[in-house]
Amino acid sequence: MDFELSDELRQIREEVRRFGENEMAPVANEYDEKEKFPHEVVEKGAEMGLTGTSIPVEYGGAGYSTLESIVIAEELYAIDPGIAGAVLGTSFGCEAIMEFGTEEQKERFLPDVAAGDKISGAAISEPDTGSDVSSVSTRAEKDGDEWVVNGNKMWITNGSVGDFFVVLCRTDPDADGRYNGFSQIVVEADRDGFEADKITGKLGIRASDTAELLFDDVRVPAENLVGTEGMGFLQQMQFFDATRTGVAAQGVGIAKGAAEGALEYAQEREQFGQPISEFQAIQHKLAEMFTDIEAARNLVYKSAWSVDNKEEQLTTLASMAKEYASRVAVDVANEAVQIHGGAGYVDDFQAERFYRDAKITQIYEGTTEIQKNVIARELLGKGI
Ligand SMILES: Cc1cc2nc3c(=O)[nH]c(=O)nc-3n(C[C@H](O)[C@H](O)[C@H](O)COP(=O)(O)OP(=O)(O)OC[C@H]3O[C@@H](n4cnc5c(N)ncnc54)[C@H](O)[C@@H]3O)c2cc1C
Repeated sequence: MDFELSDELRQIREEVRRFGENEMAPVANEYDEKEKFPHEVVEKGAEMGLTGTSIPVEYGGAGYSTLESIVIAEELYAIDPGIAGAVLGTSFGCEAIMEFGTEEQKERFLPDVAAGDKISGAAISEPDTGSDVSSVSTRAEKDGDEWVVNGNKMWITNGSVGDFFVVLCRTDPDADGRYNGFSQIVVEADRDGFEADKITGKLGIRASDTAELLFDDVRVPAENLVGTEGMGFLQQMQFFDATRTGVAAQGVGIAKGAAEGALEYAQEREQFGQPISEFQAIQHKLAEMFTDIEAARNLVYKSAWSVDNKEEQLTTLASMAKEYASRVAVDVANEAVQIHGGAGYVDDFQAERFYRDAKITQIYEGTTEIQKNVIARELLGKGI
């Protein structure tokens, strides 16, 4: 057993951290306040390979393993979760193409995303379909050699800036079994009948784009279907093993950023003639925060390792990592605000932003409650 990161990975981590400090930190408040997608930072991130961390080298990406990708995610989320999500999330959805796509699809879609020239998204949720993915009602019907897509998708990351989306559709409403009859279909944003409506007023990760998507008789070629027709639901569940581990890493990064800010502030701020870090109450908060982060990080690393090695326990570990790391993110961000006192309640310090940004990790890619359902289901040996 070896807990050391390789020299190469430590070097990548340092470079990424420098990128975050130089390119993200100075503009973080501005993008958050304006709820603006940071195209300029994404362009610079593309030069460093951050727009295609997990895309294989043969398709122009950095080809990082899940473990390497989550180490990078932790560093960037510790600087600013909104911009980190925008930069690293430009390839969201491509996981399905990498795992289930044909060679033609990989060549058609992946290199542009890796280069930062195109942005992708994954569209599963709908206005009436969130946790219960099996109730997706967006419909795709075959017409000759085309699919015709109709329906609405809700809360879609990159929705109004994306160039294409992997859309979970119902392709056979008469299929037997609750989880059959779904397919993943790529829909490009420039197709007739496609519309995106940006959602504003988010609590956090405001630099990350979110939109509602509308499909009105959108026609795409038959070869845009990813993987096996009718197996889209199960493909989607497999996709979550890797992406939930990624959200868990976001949680560790947010907690780390919040805790480091609190540690610094506690040593500078004086009350009763001494730094507040001299009070045992504050010391205990810091001790718990850093212990929780370390525990979460180890769980996330193990989850990433199990994804990379296709270990049997990977679904359980991904849900455990997401449930635990997101809880740590929310708790640590809360304590960081507390340590800042009144100064933590305004945007002079990052504590306030981490506090707002942390919450999303308990909601997207399956809520905390759904992660617990998955863990319990696996423990009890119940199938989906
Ligand atoms: C900023 C943002 C970005 C997002 N990005 C994307 C994206 O890119 N693509 C995408 O497809 N979706 C995306 N989502 C949607 C997200 O995945 C859903 O919001 C999430 O899955 C929860 O669904 P819901 O909002 O419909 O809540 P509901 O499913 O309506 O849940 C409401 C509450 O009920 C609980 N609940 C529901 N079912 C159960 C159950 N069986 N047992 C116990 N409790 C239960 C939930 O945990 C929650 O607390 C995003 C959401 C946000 C806010």
